Amino acid sequence: PPFTGVPPVTSVESSHWSPSLSAALYKEIDLLKIVKKVSDPKSSGGLGLQLPLIVRLPDVLKNRLESLQSAFEFAIQSQDYESHYQGVYPVKCNQDRFVVEDIVKFGSPFRFGLEAGSKPELLLAMSCLCKGNSESLLVCNGFKDAEYISLALVARKLALNTVIVLEQEEEIDLVIELSRKLSIRPVIGVRAKLRTKHSGHFGSTSGEKGKFGLTTTQILRVVKKLEQVGMLDCLQLLHFHIGSQIPTTALLADGVSEAAQIYCELVRLGAQMRVLDIGGGLGIDYDGSKSSDSEISISYGLEEYALAVVRAIRFVCERRSVKHPVICSESGRAIVSHHSVLIFEAVSASTYETPGMSALGLQYFVEGLSEEARSDYRNLSAAAINGDSDTCLFYADQLKQRCIDQFKEGSLDIEQLAAVDGFCEFVWKVIGVSDPTRTYHVNLSVFTSIPDFWGIGQLFPIIPIHRLDQRPAVRGILSDLTCDSDGKIDKFIGGESSLALHELEGKYYLGMFLGGAYEEALGGVHNLFGGPSVVRVSQSDGPHSFAVTRAVQGPSCADVLRVMQHEPELMFEALKHRAEECGSEDDGMANAALASSLAHSFHSMPYLVGSSCCLTAMSN
Ligand code: PLP
Repeated sequence: PPFTGVPPVTSVESSHWSPSLSAALYKEIDLLKIVKKVSDPKSSGGLGLQLPLIVRLPDVLKNRLESLQSAFEFAIQSQDYESHYQGVYPVKCNQDRFVVEDIVKFGSPFRFGLEAGSKPELLLAMSCLCKGNSESLLVCNGFKDAEYISLALVARKLALNTVIVLEQEEEIDLVIELSRKLSIRPVIGVRAKLRTKHSGHFGSTSGEKGKFGLTTTQILRVVKKLEQVGMLDCLQLLHFHIGSQIPTTALLADGVSEAAQIYCELVRLGAQMRVLDIGGGLGIDYDGSKSSDSEISISYGLEEYALAVVRAIRFVCERRSVKHPVICSESGRAIVSHHSVLIFEAVSASTYETPGMSALGLQYFVEGLSEEARSDYRNLSAAAINGDSDTCLFYADQLKQRCIDQFKEGSLDIEQLAAVDGFCEFVWKVIGVSDPTRTYHVNLSVFTSIPDFWGIGQLFPIIPIHRLDQRPAVRGILSDLTCDSDGKIDKFIGGESSLALHELEGKYYLGMFLGGAYEEALGGVHNLFGGPSVVRVSQSDGPHSFAVTRAVQGPSCADVLRVMQHEPELMFEALKHRAEECGSEDDGMANAALASSLAHSFHSMPYLVGSSCCLTAMSN
């Protein structure tokens, strides 16, 4: 990045920082015990919840918030910075009511607020912040219409510390008009389109041609307009966001310095500036590499991040003799990613067996072949005797293709085609080119629960959560329940194309970690698979060191049908009527049983259930 004059952060400086004290008090919680407790209806206190399952750990959420706060407090103290840090959580990262309520509760002692980017997000943020600290910021970002702006003004009237951040220049006219109409004095922020550009996947929002924010010329026009209407004192916050997962503190300091210069210019032009909001971008280390070369990692920790920010702002403000602003950040990924674990079950796996073939079977198979295919077979056998594996491979591939062609023409029967498949598989295995990777079928929808893998190829750590004392003996990819070829996970952390797994014997649970941000919010209902069940688990002094404090079964088939405008109640009535028409007294299944089975289907989750559950449901 270009020279900004801000000295870089050294690891020695940040090494004096100690993370939140509560981290030292954490105990281990066995995820498998949680799964057993909440999924098994027969275990003591068992809830019979269906998988997939999201396990939320509010203690982890609390720790992330406190660690971020204490990193900034340390940086502020060590840099003699003359103001404070006051973050907000962008609710779009995970709008779940209990996640947002927890953040407001845990962050209340240090005025932690919320950021909204749409009308419903603003409504939920307003209602959650009513129970929080009145000094917490409510930052209103996103494209706005008159309704959004009116709602944000109403929020101010409700004594919520609301800032309307202009995302487009035209919004200023609406803010001026509506604030006059409603007689509510607004606090206004402006989102700057910085020149600093973040190069990674998430950097397309930054730079002069970025999608969001106001250019320098537009900011100047807004200042003029506010001055003309006597509202320049309302302009109090400068915001920017150069994208998620900022790879280095050097790039961060560059962006923050540019924003700090704009901030100082706005002070010079007469705005009553108070807050510099540096947006999101605080990254997390998904692959454990701690390297800025990896798109899913970063080369700094919380403490280095905070030091780089505080230092860059202080440096610019000192030079411009400007009072230090309140520092606000909108970290989402770094706050909520760690607190939830997605747990799902592998229900079956493709087998990898060496097909055997009797002498009779072989003869039958060879006799049915065309002259060319038989010649391939002879050449293959000769190459095998000479130990020439390249030639073996060539003829095996050619033989297989010829047999497929013969089958399509109708001159090879299905048993012979199966025999050639088995024979070629055998040859590939013997010469060592067979791919032993298995496909594990998992009771999950990638589109619903890991949409960033499908959409942008983002990798998340995935590992089995049990049998961890046994060495995994096979490698596998994960294939989901949807009838879509993209519904599979075949790329893993560390550049691996398969995952180390155990042989499938009975129940086999896997966990996906660090997916607490964005994944739930972005997931769709492809194939009408709804969201997972959710449990909230806190540490406790009980025998398992945890307590389940909330448990919610995932959406039912009826719930997801409703999302697509179907009316499950009417559908049920129509199908029940049909059952009455079709049923007769001597049917194995009486009408009442048919209706109850139909009702059960509407109420059950779209995911697979164990066969015993199905039978219980039918007999009920
Ligand atoms: N603020 C704004 C305006 C954003 O667009 C985003 C996400 O892209 C965030 C905050 C959250 O960013 P992150 O999850 O990287 O912290």
